[in-house]
Amino acid sequence: MLSAQKMEKFAELAVTIGANMQKGQEVVIRCDVNCQDFAHIIAKKAYELGAKQVLMQWRDEQLSRMSMLYADTETLCDIPDYSIQQLQYFIDHKCCLISISAGDPNIYKGCDAEKLAKVNVASSKAMAEFRKATMSNYLRWTIVSVPTAGWAKQVFPDDPVEVAIDKMWDSIASIMRLNEADPVEAWRKHIATLHRRADFLNAHNFKYLHLTSANGTDLKVGLAKDHLWLAAEEEGQDGLKFTANMPTEEIFTAPHKDHVDGIVKNALPLVNNGNIIDNFSITFKDGKVTDFTAEKGYDALKGLLSTDEGVLHLGEIALLGKNSPIAQSGILFYNTLFDENASCHLAFGKAYPTTVRNGNDKTKEELAEMGVNDSLQHVDFMVGTKDINIKGVQYDGTETVLFEDGEWVI
Ligand code: ZN
Ligand code: ZN
Repeated sequence: MLSAQKMEKFAELAVTIGANMQKGQEVVIRCDVNCQDFAHIIAKKAYELGAKQVLMQWRDEQLSRMSMLYADTETLCDIPDYSIQQLQYFIDHKCCLISISAGDPNIYKGCDAEKLAKVNVASSKAMAEFRKATMSNYLRWTIVSVPTAGWAKQVFPDDPVEVAIDKMWDSIASIMRLNEADPVEAWRKHIATLHRRADFLNAHNFKYLHLTSANGTDLKVGLAKDHLWLAAEEEGQDGLKFTANMPTEEIFTAPHKDHVDGIVKNALPLVNNGNIIDNFSITFKDGKVTDFTAEKGYDALKGLLSTDEGVLHLGEIALLGKNSPIAQSGILFYNTLFDENASCHLAFGKAYPTTVRNGNDKTKEELAEMGVNDSLQHVDFMVGTKDINIKGVQYDGTETVLFEDGEWVI
């Protein structure tokens, strides 16, 4: 367990550096019922810092599992109006959002993958407006994580659950820089380093990046026209900064949806909807997935890749070195928030409109013209092996080495 003092600092990070809550603002905490203790610490901190009102959006993964097992597909795909209206309220009131992501990676084990994929599409469709509000930075939002029993047991299966939870807290404390004398100041410094590298990448305006690894990855990822490399802090549409992912180590941008060619293999398992997909390879031609294999979770990967046309194209490329605290921990968290910060990654599906210049002012057609992908999905998968080499190639052919043996050289 963390000390009460560190726990409070953690909550403060989420409210300030994360969501950048303003005095008088409404705050929504979105989490599973098993995270209620930490949710209450965040709620108290938000009120102390001047929240107008704290609202809770509870989830219940145990119930979600039961529904997936017992309710029929048609019923589950009929998303209740009130849940959409609730999300609309959050948009209309310009709430800032704090999500606690701590799901049991095995929660849907044994459930029908096809049913799960269908329900996932239905709920993604129902949430389209809300998704737009967060992905376009209309709302400020952040995601943090705390250990839960199911999650800790997956990460440390050989330990009794209490020990597993303690180990999780230890690693989360160091990853979140809670052991520093002043965690808020430590985060500001970390954010400055990431922004220096993003500025370097933006100044070079690369045409494409070339990724190679000993595992067989050999992929050229074209970048969208007027792409922007972003890191850590993003700017909300109202001009206020926020940090969407905590932790965050990545610097990311939009690939060109039609200019990705070659083969890529995963470096870490992909956990999607409670399914674990591993030892997979994806072949791209002219931006589109033309072939895929998976030694584990093939059906889940197939389900994911049949969501819509856009999921067959890339929506994100993100770079981070093997010396990041999460990679150093050597722990596989089975949680995207952490694992995506352990390794360079790509994402199937929708690109963030903010990753191209003036992206939020562009129409759908204009974004597509620039190469910005659209889909109901946005699913990260890790490709950054410890030996990955990455070079950037500019429009005039000039090459710049960015990564050698899994780490930044700029
Ligand atoms: Zn990412
Ligand atoms: Zn992503």
